[in-house]
Amino acid sequence: MKVGIYTNKLTSSQVTKHKLTELLLQNGFEINDKEPDVVITLGGDGTLLAAFHHYIKQLNQIRFTAVNTGHLGFYTDWQNSEIEQLVESLKKDDGKSVSYPLLKIIVHFNQTNRQPKTYLALNESILQKITSTLIADVYLGDQLFEHFRGEGLCISTPTGSTAYNKSVGGAIVNSSLKILQLTEVASINNIMFRTLGSPMIIGPEDKLTIVPSAKSDYFLTVDSESYQCNQISRIEFALCKQDIRFVKYRHINFWKRVQKSFIGEV
Ligand code: NAP
Repeated sequence: MKVGIYTNKLTSSQVTKHKLTELLLQNGFEINDKEPDVVITLGGDGTLLAAFHHYIKQLNQIRFTAVNTGHLGFYTDWQNSEIEQLVESLKKDDGKSVSYPLLKIIVHFNQTNRQPKTYLALNESILQKITSTLIADVYLGDQLFEHFRGEGLCISTPTGSTAYNKSVGGAIVNSSLKILQLTEVASINNIMFRTLGSPMIIGPEDKLTIVPSAKSDYFLTVDSESYQCNQISRIEFALCKQDIRFVKYRHINFWKRVQKSFIGEV
């Protein structure tokens, strides 16, 4: 098995990387960061997000597993005190994986000769206007659903539901469900602009389209990256056919993880 190691800059991650590399080599694994079968991330959820984007063109070949060098994360199954157990379970690997849905974002432009741009998000995508409030029409399928005016719109995956989505009042969604969630960020509601006001869970077959009213000055956030976008005609959001796959060694109950992270001991 070819193993890639992707780490953040923290000293604790660098120390763990050193130990892990030795352990993997002693146990007959090949270290290969370019074309790995499995990528082990060392850091937190942010590091896993960065690794996902780093290996985005190889998602078909790669399974991920994440070691936390900080507090318990949502994508991280192992603590850095457990790397011996992680290597032991990699030795018994049977190729099984658990997969989570990704969000596909397609940005269309006004210029007819300009190709649409496609992005994939593991957590979420947020559309905001830079200089003023965002005014946009929201379509579900081909049907105009509402006129939005406010700070922005956030579309999150189930695994992203515990991140930005949670901060803007979205529901926490069990990561085994194949859905997307639309949440409003500080919407203005009056006779002109009327939105649902509640987070919406969107099914796997539904396509969500946002048509911004002005042409320019948008910020489109895709996980940790932000892109300044001009001349947008519409943005389509849907579940992607491609998933992210994680190595399936042990199952940490989703709601236990939520409780540990947000509530603590009860
Ligand atoms: P970042 O510093 O990489 O991450 C910000 C925080 O979000 C970190 O504590 C990170 O955990 C946590 N996080 C990331 N994904 C998560 C998930 N799926 N569930 C629960 N917590 C999660 O910030 P960034 O590079 O700007 O953006 C990365 C992500 O951070 C975004 O996708 C967004 O969801 C989230 N974020 C949230 C807010 C907010 O809630 N107001 C604001 C900005 C960004 P670790 O410490 O384990 O890395």
